[in-house]
Amino acid sequence: MTELNPFEIAQEQLAQVAEIMRLEPSVHEVLKNPLREIRVNLPVRMDDGTTKVFEGFRVQYNDARGPTKGGIRFHPEETIDTVRALAAWMTWKCALLDLPLGGAKGGIVCDTKKMSDGELERLSRAYVKAIWQFIGPEQDIPAPDVYTSPKIMVWMMDEYSKIVGRTQFGVVTGKPVCVGGSPGRGDATARGGMYTIREAARELGIDLANATVAIQGYGNVGYNAARLVKEMFGSKVVAVCDTKGGVCDLDGLDPDGVARHKRETSTVANYPETVPMCAADIIASEVDILIPAAIEGVITAENAGDVKAKIVAELANGPTTPEADEILFKKGIHVIPDFLCNAGGVTVSYFEMVQNMSLSRWTEEEVYSKLDSKMTAAYRAVLETSKKMGINMRKAAYVVAVERVVEAMKCRGWV
Ligand code: GLU
Repeated sequence: MTELNPFEIAQEQLAQVAEIMRLEPSVHEVLKNPLREIRVNLPVRMDDGTTKVFEGFRVQYNDARGPTKGGIRFHPEETIDTVRALAAWMTWKCALLDLPLGGAKGGIVCDTKKMSDGELERLSRAYVKAIWQFIGPEQDIPAPDVYTSPKIMVWMMDEYSKIVGRTQFGVVTGKPVCVGGSPGRGDATARGGMYTIREAARELGIDLANATVAIQGYGNVGYNAARLVKEMFGSKVVAVCDTKGGVCDLDGLDPDGVARHKRETSTVANYPETVPMCAADIIASEVDILIPAAIEGVITAENAGDVKAKIVAELANGPTTPEADEILFKKGIHVIPDFLCNAGGVTVSYFEMVQNMSLSRWTEEEVYSKLDSKMTAAYRAVLETSKKMGINMRKAAYVVAVERVVEAMKCRGWV
């Protein structure tokens, strides 16, 4: 069977839920496609004096519930369809967490590993120069995502501020604390996921202090998940991998040691005193909790049957294909779906917006406790819907989120 692209997957997920919810066809029609797409070509002066043109996108999927929100990815394989899918998932994510925000996503086709800091800065500023009329604190608020960092957010905020003639912290989130960032934003995605794992473990009767964990991907989210699962619950991280390879240690890896090794060698592979493993094999690890923490499409019809974990906590966006979803559900594996599990990032981004608008600064403790309440409420709403309707957790998350977006569209007279 032909592979679906991420946007076809997002549309397929929505179609399945539209049927369960008996959504009116006209409402489904509005939700099926983004309301606005921006495509730009960005000429950037490279260090060798030549000019290179980069392709960029910003997709504003739906703003019925508020200004659109979502990260920007810098990825060599970025496509408009990936960005559309991610923008759709942002819409459901913000609604599920009951944030007064719609969903958007941005992307630039580029390989950050082959670019200097200067080139990245010029690219980031060029992107803002090209789309500035369409973003803003009350319109659309970008944030970090795959291969974009707080540093990149500051360049974007600074460029936007120069164009509009005043400092506008609120135009992007995920900034460093010294320029309008929120305490706790750095590891918010992973930390938010931990609260959902805690709730899932409680539901399934799993003792997290004795649980084993495997993590696919060791960037910001993967590393922080490894660190926090150990720190907060005392669980053992026995396997991790990145694009270049993986390592396994049944006695438990040291998350910070692995991160140091990755900084020095650019991969987790060959971390001393561990058993090497093939990155693809991590999906089939004998563990209690499997955490995909990288990119989309890694749990597929081919390998879903091999998953042995009791919980799959999707810290990545879109890691599981619809066919794989069915297989996991039939096997009785508890999936914490992506736009629930990884919603901690955007939730703390929203806290950052609130702090920027009110010129205030919350403490880390305040952020953690508000994040915990939001994530726990969303998890419980999804679990309850899943039980009540006899549907899997992903479909239940869709039902809750889509209902809220539709309610807003109806209130505004759009449908
Ligand atoms: N990129 C993150 C996500 O996929 C965060 C988005 C945001 O903070 O706006 O949820």
